[in-house]
Amino acid sequence: MHLNTEETDIIVRGCGPTGAMLAGYLGTMNVRCIVLEREGEIVTDPRGIALDEDGIRLVQGLGFSLGDHHDLTKGAVMVMDYGTSEGGTGHVGFICHKQPGLEKYLRKKLAETKAVDFRPQSTIVGISEDDDHVYVEYKDKNGEIRGRRRW
Ligand SMILES: Cc1cc2nc3c(=O)[nH]c(=O)nc-3n(C[C@H](O)[C@H](O)[C@H](O)COP(=O)(O)OP(=O)(O)OC[C@H]3O[C@@H](n4cnc5c(N)ncnc54)[C@H](O)[C@@H]3O)c2cc1C
Repeated sequence: MHLNTEETDIIVRGCGPTGAMLAGYLGTMNVRCIVLEREGEIVTDPRGIALDEDGIRLVQGLGFSLGDHHDLTKGAVMVMDYGTSEGGTGHVGFICHKQPGLEKYLRKKLAETKAVDFRPQSTIVGISEDDDHVYVEYKDKNGEIRGRRRW
């Protein structure tokens, strides 16, 4: 029995930098997705602090200029010498950043994208499948709901 079942194309578990980036790109391709995130707010723990050139390229691919990220416009608190000042793709090799700030801007992008449905305070508690579908069960702040992803 599937109560409160709804259908979408992709379910992304977690809206950390990886989930937010993935959902951002799915949104730009107009692929319907639901992003389920356990926490109500962006986690402020000092986790990611550095982006390599691939990370920089991915952020820019979602339309951000690095100047959009307020933490990147401030003076550096630390300079790291990795023996390279330029990456192989025309970007600098590394930049420092603050993860909560980066996540804030990624989520802003999701909010602007119609195909992406971001749901905070939603914890995935089970995943199952039959021949046709994958079922994702999650709890939101109001109780238990089932989401459904089409293959
Ligand atoms: C002290 C520290 C320093 C670090 N420094 C760096 C660094 O400099 N550079 C770097 O690249 N990485 C660094 N890392 C690793 C960094 O945290 C990860 O690269 C980054 O957070 C990974 O992003 P993510 O989206 O994959 O995972 P996370 O940031 O862990 O995001 C996962 C998300 O999923 C949510 N979630 C989990 N379970 C569920 C569930 N059942 N249902 C719904 N939502 C769920 C969580 O709430 C969370 O928001 C550091 C980590 C630590 C702890």
